[in-house]
Amino acid sequence: MVDGLSVIVSGGSMGGLFAALALGEAGHSVDVFERAAGELEGRGAGIVAQPSMLDYLERRGIACRGGYTLTTHRREYLNRDGSLREARSDSMTFTGWDTLYRRLRDAVVEGRYHEGHVVGFERDGEEVVVRFADGSERRADLLVIAEGGRSETREALLPDVSPEYAGYVAWRGLIGERDVPSDLIERFEDTFVFFEGERQLILGYLIPGPDGETGRGERRLNWVWYDDVRDRERLDELLTDSQGTERDFSVAPGDLRGEVERDLRRAAEEEFPDPFSRLVGETREPFVQTIYDLSAPEMAFGRVCLLGDAAFVARPHTAAGTAKAAADAIGLGAALDGSDPVTALGDWERERLAAGRRLVREGIRMGEGYMG
Ligand SMILES: Cc1cc2nc3c(=O)[nH]c(=O)nc-3n(C[C@H](O)[C@H](O)[C@H](O)COP(=O)(O)OP(=O)(O)OC[C@H]3O[C@@H](n4cnc5c(N)ncnc54)[C@H](O)[C@@H]3O)c2cc1C
Repeated sequence: MVDGLSVIVSGGSMGGLFAALALGEAGHSVDVFERAAGELEGRGAGIVAQPSMLDYLERRGIACRGGYTLTTHRREYLNRDGSLREARSDSMTFTGWDTLYRRLRDAVVEGRYHEGHVVGFERDGEEVVVRFADGSERRADLLVIAEGGRSETREALLPDVSPEYAGYVAWRGLIGERDVPSDLIERFEDTFVFFEGERQLILGYLIPGPDGETGRGERRLNWVWYDDVRDRERLDELLTDSQGTERDFSVAPGDLRGEVERDLRRAAEEEFPDPFSRLVGETREPFVQTIYDLSAPEMAFGRVCLLGDAAFVARPHTAAGTAKAAADAIGLGAALDGSDPVTALGDWERERLAAGRRLVREGIRMGEGYMG
């Protein structure tokens, strides 16, 4: 244990929660502030659970592998008529965003997770004075910005860095096992299934139920459809929600306009093989997220640092956004070992900048392979 620093984490999603856990374990006193009211769960969908992250959670006694994950051992690519184009052995482990979030949230020390919107900070000697939207201020030895890809605090630090739209979107959906015919579920049993069309890719896999349930009947089917939307006008239309509000990056489940949803189901019917056409057709509340790239040239600014998506957003093909946020946080916990925090952050930054750049490059390469 080290002589603990007081740390404020801005953002209470995956990156912020991993930071709270890793820095807390290293002996620091951490408070997390999340601007969204209430719990975030219920908004995410399926994610690939990378081994490094699973190892960490198991070692910390936060979550035990089989208790909240499902592993497939086979990958299949389908033809347009639904027949098998290619199959190979491939082991992938999945969980739900909400399932993982709940475990992390429960592991954060009682009373250290707060609702609060960080609007800025000032440096004051060896302290950082953090300002909140309600006019209050708090002092800390360190500020960790885990505000995601659209971080306002990062924008203030690095005004020239902003997310770059990749020219396509991800339509997504999640559906309870009980709400679909059993032959559809059967198609995804132990199998990660893909269909590649003309500048289109759709994939599907089973994930546990919201509380990590892995038994038959309790799981959920998750699908992701990467769709070429280079036309800005069409993009604006898709991102205008049922209330007529133009969203910047995503439209949440239940908020897509009826017309957009109808077009989506029609396109799936026309372009995809069974089981994907049926899967999209059966999903009650599909949602959409734009795909973008983001690379920050710096992560450490004296006693302030960027972590997770606030620093680098890699395309979801890498299946590593959450694992990267976890690795940033675990690395930060290890770096802040009692030596001067500014030097420690500098050392940490060198390693994590390289990892972030690698992952963003890998995401672009994979995306160009799929989407042209
Ligand atoms: C609701 C939600 C659902 C998601 N679902 C999936 C999924 O299904 N699959 C997947 O692969 N990835 C998903 N992601 C993305 C994934 O969680 C991230 O790629 C990864 O976990 C890195 O997370 P992050 O904490 O760095 O950023 P994010 O997950 O984007 O979180 C940033 C958090 O910071 C908060 N915040 C922003 N600004 C401020 C501020 N000024 N003050 C205080 N708080 C602030 C935001 O409200 C948000 O909760 C989801 C993210 C969110 C927020």
